[in-house]
Amino acid sequence: MNIEVSEEQIAFRKSVRDFAEQEIAPFSAEWDRSEQMDRSIVKKLASVGLLGGTLPECYGGMGMDNMSYCLMIEELGRADSSVRGVVSVNVGLVGKTILRWGTESQKEQWLPSLCSGDGIGCYGLTEPDAGSDAAALRTRAERVGGDWRLNGSKMFITNGTWASFALIFARTGSEEISAFLVPTESPGFSARPIMGKLGLRAADTAELTLSDVLVADENRLGEVGEGLRVAMSALDNGRMSLSAGCVGLGQACLEASLSYAGERRAFGKPIAGFQLIQELIAEMAMDIDASRLLTWRVAALADEGKPHKLESSFAKLFASEAAVKASNNALQIYGGYGYIDEYPVGRLMRDARVTTLYEGTSQMQKLIIGRALTGQSAFS
Ligand SMILES: Cc1cc2nc3c(=O)[nH]c(=O)nc-3n(C[C@H](O)[C@H](O)[C@H](O)COP(=O)(O)OP(=O)(O)OC[C@H]3O[C@@H](n4cnc5c(N)ncnc54)[C@H](O)[C@@H]3O)c2cc1C
Repeated sequence: MNIEVSEEQIAFRKSVRDFAEQEIAPFSAEWDRSEQMDRSIVKKLASVGLLGGTLPECYGGMGMDNMSYCLMIEELGRADSSVRGVVSVNVGLVGKTILRWGTESQKEQWLPSLCSGDGIGCYGLTEPDAGSDAAALRTRAERVGGDWRLNGSKMFITNGTWASFALIFARTGSEEISAFLVPTESPGFSARPIMGKLGLRAADTAELTLSDVLVADENRLGEVGEGLRVAMSALDNGRMSLSAGCVGLGQACLEASLSYAGERRAFGKPIAGFQLIQELIAEMAMDIDASRLLTWRVAALADEGKPHKLESSFAKLFASEAAVKASNNALQIYGGYGYIDEYPVGRLMRDARVTTLYEGTSQMQKLIIGRALTGQSAFS
């Protein structure tokens, strides 16, 4: 396997950083305080091709390789995890899943709007009573003639009120789950924003309710009964994206810490000169580097068309835990100033915290890894 970042990819990364520093970073603190990001960011992301990411050019995407995609997501994560989430869900969880499982007409119908930002997507798997145990979901899809009627609710859905369509997983039989592309304008579909989150406060997170929502059979993604496989394949892609976002968040923590530790003085010298501060910084730098390499390995495998399920779990588990630790170290270095929102590290810590929870908690990643290594499932 060849893990290599080309000059072209480095130049692309620089262009994403410039975009993020101009269009995102200056507004992040205010978006966090007001619990709302400016929605015009969606069109701005689209205008420079970042909403389409790895999706093929024939559907309006950038057709970029997975390594470039990870570099892009790292830069967005460095600037603002809420904005990073918009792209991760749109491309990683929804777009790539349609690309993998969709018919040609479904790809032509749904992908161009994802790339242009005319209609972003959301991914509706989690329910109020089914998170880690996704197979226990209760949303039902019943046959109505040749089509379907959906009833149920979905919890904590990123892009939930912004999305123009939702990828919804519903039970089509007692032992059977199927996937559907549901326009959010459908009668009976509603989205309620969830406010007061600890972190990712600028992100649009919602509870979705489906009451007798009629969905045409042509909107079914994959075969009847294939829904859980569709959902899990999306999470494999999503975990690479999330890992890259964690690397960016950790990098932001490291840069903020280096800058502050160089300026803040105690006992007659910059705190950067104290061994115990250097320990915090060294741990952070090492963990971020390891996270980055684990993430790049997933990208390289994906670019070579090789399986990467286990490696995605390694990367997601390590990078998310590392991001939480890095943000905690950063806050420690800032001392009392880290505790007020005039400085960025408090937001970084709150934003980091969710990464060990969503797209499979740390416990679930360990069980996935354990199952892969032992051949025994500890969770079914
Ligand atoms: C901000 C945010 C955005 C989100 N975005 C989306 C989205 O876009 N789409 C979507 O579908 N979902 C989304 N989620 C949901 C997220 O994926 C779930 O919260 C997550 O999967 C965990 O499910 P849960 O919250 O129901 O926790 P639970 O599954 O109830 O878990 C509670 C605790 O029990 C542990 N646990 C559960 N089972 C086991 C086991 N077998 N062994 C050991 N420990 C176990 C878990 O690790 C956790 O610590 C989002 C969540 C948040 C907070």
